[in-house]
Amino acid sequence: IVRMQKLNKHFGSLHVLNDIDLEIIPGEVVVIIGASGSGKSTLIRCINGLEEFQSGMLEVDGNTLTPNGKSSKALQTIRTEVGMVFQQFNLFPHLSVIDNITLAPMKVRGWNRDDAVATAKRLLDRVGIADQADKYPSQLSGGQQQRVALARALAMEPRLMLFDEPTSALDPEMIGEVLDAMRELAKEGMTMVIVTHEMGFAREVADRVIFIHKGVIAEQGAPQQLFDSPQNERTQSFLARVL
Ligand code: ATP
Ligand code: MG
Repeated sequence: IVRMQKLNKHFGSLHVLNDIDLEIIPGEVVVIIGASGSGKSTLIRCINGLEEFQSGMLEVDGNTLTPNGKSSKALQTIRTEVGMVFQQFNLFPHLSVIDNITLAPMKVRGWNRDDAVATAKRLLDRVGIADQADKYPSQLSGGQQQRVALARALAMEPRLMLFDEPTSALDPEMIGEVLDAMRELAKEGMTMVIVTHEMGFAREVADRVIFIHKGVIAEQGAPQQLFDSPQNERTQSFLARVL
């Protein structure tokens, strides 16, 4: 569902992604790890067209993005087909939970309100907060807000879900409830790309773990292989610091 070939991304003179080759198949759960500043966020932001790139090629669900591509048709399609959950929940503060979730399906997909509300309620139930539908984001805990953000992304029926450190802004006691919701999603067969520092979760849920070092994929493999017997010296020293 994702095919990235020799993708290069610069911010001015900074070479942030260097000849990245990456293929993701439907249903695969890929976890991306690496030090701060290694390019993890930039990589997943490229996948949904939030960042443009300078060379290489990127295809997402049959839509091809070109280097320095501006507002193309492919870009629009990708943004509707790919869901994203950020570290900061990015909910609309002036909208209720239910309105946060129904906004995009009504506006972008043209659903009527009744259908959008029914879907939103089903999704809230699925992430375990059916009782919070009429509240505003500020009335919810961080863990609840992040589950609303997840439900909001799922309401668009995405073909692929991207997560950028979804639990990093949460109090420790709320991390579990968000990881549980993500674990469920993985079990149901959603294709997911997840940047996280939750190594236990990665080991359990990932089909493949990718270690990025200075904009290069230094090593990748099944979680057991990468965590228990890393081959690359950079991976070894990174894991020694975080595990
Ligand atoms: P972290 O773990 O801290 O989130 P990361 O691996 O997600 O790090 P990125 O955010 O992808 O790293 O950043 C990679 C590099 O690109 C860093 O050196 C960062 O300073 C730089 N960078 C990121 N966004 C921009 C931007 N908009 N303009 C200029 N430089 C940027
Ligand atoms: Mg980041």
